[in-house]
Amino acid sequence: MCGIIGAIERAGARESIFQGLARLEYRGYDSAGAAFVDRERIRRVRVAGRVADLVHAAIPSKQGETGIGHTRWATHGPPEKRNAHPLSAGQVAVAHNGVIENHAELRAMLLKKRRRFVSDTDTEVFAHLLDLALQREKNEAAAMRAAVEKLRGSFALVAVAAGREKIMCARRGAPLLAGVGRKGVYITSDAHALRGRAKKISLLEDGDIAILSPDGVEFFDASGKPATRKWRPAPRDDGDIELGGHAHFMRKEMQEQPAAAAATLDPLVKRGRIVPRLFGQGASASFERVQDAVIVGCGTSYHAGLCGRRWMEELAGIPCRTEIASEYRGLPRPRPRSGDLLVAVSQSGETADTLGALRDFCQARRGRALAICNTTQSAMARESHMFLPTRAGLEVGVAATKTFTAQLAALAATALAM
Ligand code: GLU
Repeated sequence: MCGIIGAIERAGARESIFQGLARLEYRGYDSAGAAFVDRERIRRVRVAGRVADLVHAAIPSKQGETGIGHTRWATHGPPEKRNAHPLSAGQVAVAHNGVIENHAELRAMLLKKRRRFVSDTDTEVFAHLLDLALQREKNEAAAMRAAVEKLRGSFALVAVAAGREKIMCARRGAPLLAGVGRKGVYITSDAHALRGRAKKISLLEDGDIAILSPDGVEFFDASGKPATRKWRPAPRDDGDIELGGHAHFMRKEMQEQPAAAAATLDPLVKRGRIVPRLFGQGASASFERVQDAVIVGCGTSYHAGLCGRRWMEELAGIPCRTEIASEYRGLPRPRPRSGDLLVAVSQSGETADTLGALRDFCQARRGRALAICNTTQSAMARESHMFLPTRAGLEVGVAATKTFTAQLAALAATALAM
């Protein structure tokens, strides 16, 4: 799952899009692209290469006030220019993070309607669905909703259409957040891309549709009703993405490990003791009832969980196992009991399988769930009973260092608290 940026700015969206894409590079990607609404048409520029190549390939003239950009991590179709996003169909161009699971059946249905495909991606079906829906529906929100309703899978989608000064957005299972700044309105999958541009940001809720226009952002909930979403100040452009004399970000972030662990632990400790109350309302009582614990996570977070399991057993005397979130979710299992604790560990707080495991657990309405993640506004932080933030700050290096150490600190603190 890679990066999305979109902007509507009176002075032209070009700079924000390219700068946003450069800031998304740290996530890793294999190709990049952008699309700009240029009066009655869409201009696209795409490369199977780096963002810097994209900037060179772009036509230097002012390209539209409205634009979207994408860094792709291919899931369907090789990393080639024709598969790079934004993908277009008719009047529409679309950028997508995630996977559309029923793309094959949708493609077959669209082929019958004489729609032509030029890429191998799952995403292209959505460009066609939206193009058709815009011809039929009364406005952009209705069209977006009609097109999204046909999808199975997880996605963050942003789209532009020729002749419309709007960006149409939808999220299900992948993060998207809107921003408003002095110069314009924005949409992104990663707040970091908007640093210094957005003054306030608002996270779309799962199932939301958002329509950006020069006048602002309109939200619609999963049932299509206009919705109000909370705005909060955008993270400060505090320069913590500078290398500060280090050879590269991974080196810098390794040096930051003690600070990340301290920042995670300090707020939890009062007079030399860990205060369970700080894990959330009713946490003390919840911890006392725990008889069994399971830690779920993916990748690095799973590995932190393997250490966490030992501490939970050694320090808290509570039987604990650690599971890869996708397997925890995928296998039949007994219903949670009231003495069960699920600890969901994720850096972003949006990892699809870990979030899915957390939701399945919470749905049973028994036992308690604790989320440990590095993003306080994430879906996992909001949906779990208890929340413990790791305070590692932004990690640019792809290999986890300080976020892993902060997760260990948080898991140790949890075991001690219990
Ligand atoms: N599934 C889409 C593709 O392969 C999007 C991948 C991504 O999240 O970057 O093109």
